[in-house]
Amino acid sequence: GRNNSGYYPARLGQSFERGRLCVVRKLGWGQYSSVWLARDKEKSRFVALKILTCDATKALSEPEQRSDELSLLRKIADSDPSHPGFPHNIAYLDFFDFLGPHGSHRCVITEVLGYNLNYIRRHKGDGDLRVQPSLVKCVVKQVLKGLEYLHDVCGIVHADIKHDNILFRPADIEAVATHELATKPSMTYDCGTELRPSTIPVVSQALPLSTDPLIDDKIIKERDFVVVISDFGHSHWRHRHFQEIIQPSALRAPEVILGYKWDTPADIWNVGCIVTELLVGSWLFEPNVEKHWGYEEDHLARMTEALDCSFDVDFLAKCEHRNKFFQPSGVYSDWSLAHFEKHLEPTRQIDDLLRSYSLLQDASQIKAAERFILRCLRLIPGERTTAKELADDPWLA
Ligand code: ATP
Ligand code: MG
Ligand code: MG
Repeated sequence: GRNNSGYYPARLGQSFERGRLCVVRKLGWGQYSSVWLARDKEKSRFVALKILTCDATKALSEPEQRSDELSLLRKIADSDPSHPGFPHNIAYLDFFDFLGPHGSHRCVITEVLGYNLNYIRRHKGDGDLRVQPSLVKCVVKQVLKGLEYLHDVCGIVHADIKHDNILFRPADIEAVATHELATKPSMTYDCGTELRPSTIPVVSQALPLSTDPLIDDKIIKERDFVVVISDFGHSHWRHRHFQEIIQPSALRAPEVILGYKWDTPADIWNVGCIVTELLVGSWLFEPNVEKHWGYEEDHLARMTEALDCSFDVDFLAKCEHRNKFFQPSGVYSDWSLAHFEKHLEPTRQIDDLLRSYSLLQDASQIKAAERFILRCLRLIPGERTTAKELADDPWLA
């Protein structure tokens, strides 16, 4: 029967590419893929297999609908390996297409990485989703380097910068993987041993490599990792967009909602959102559908609330969807959100959030973090600071 999800039902011990690649364990999954640890027997190394759902493969024939992950990854791999931002993007190795029971799949082969940022927040064991400011700074610095390379060298907008797409690269992944496989045999398949098909277990549980209950402490103390941007499944060329609606809805930049030409500053908006979220331990924007206004209008209003400013009239004039959200107000001389203004809560401003909820120690640290975040969260995309400039922000020094 056809499975609706379109995920390929991979099995531990299964081989691909005429026996060259052997599936060892599941590493993760997302909306469009499952990701597997595999042994490349020819090259004697571990690799990650991102097996796209068959829907995703089918949609590849409609290039304007879906991003072309493969050509973007190739561009990233080939552009300038000597650039300081190069190591902060996932290393692409190869790809192949194959036929499964539900249709054809594309499999992208990349380097193996460790935890994603979301996993680190959720598995500290104390239910506190805040991350130590020193670790946040260390992560953000590297993400900005990676973005500088994507934006300035490759001409790519990532468009999906969020916690689960930021991964850690341990110093010696071969050692980590080998140790893991030796200590968690029930989750893995030892590719040295031949098993009869009936004894090969099916796994559905995903587990990142180097699982450790003390990960947060350990990472802060050892700092023996590189932060890597991954998942180019929703990315775009700066000058050729596959679609105009980008980004997870709660992280969506104002220009995307308002129908203004978006570009690399859209990624910087996401950086501002995720930095705030890592520091305060909750979403920055959680828009709702309300009785008198919709999700997007709520979102735009919450932006003006958090940033304590309103949308510029000249900017709005250039936005295709202005009239969906704004109307000339009889009271004010400029354009204002049609329904919302009276309901804003000034307590949701960035400095207030940082003061009330973050682990930042003193007033000067709070001020510095707020300045950094506000450089990322300018409502007009052209006013946002670039990745290259942000890497030198005093807060990160
Ligand atoms: P999304 O729903 O975010 O679009 P996706 O289907 O595009 O997801 P990815 O985000 O690339 O897939 O991968 C899904 C998850 O698998 C990641 O969040 C990560 O935890 C894990 N993962 C992906 N690539 C690797 C890798 N190279 N090494 C280790 N784990 C990985
Ligand atoms: Mg992802
Ligand atoms: Mg994706």
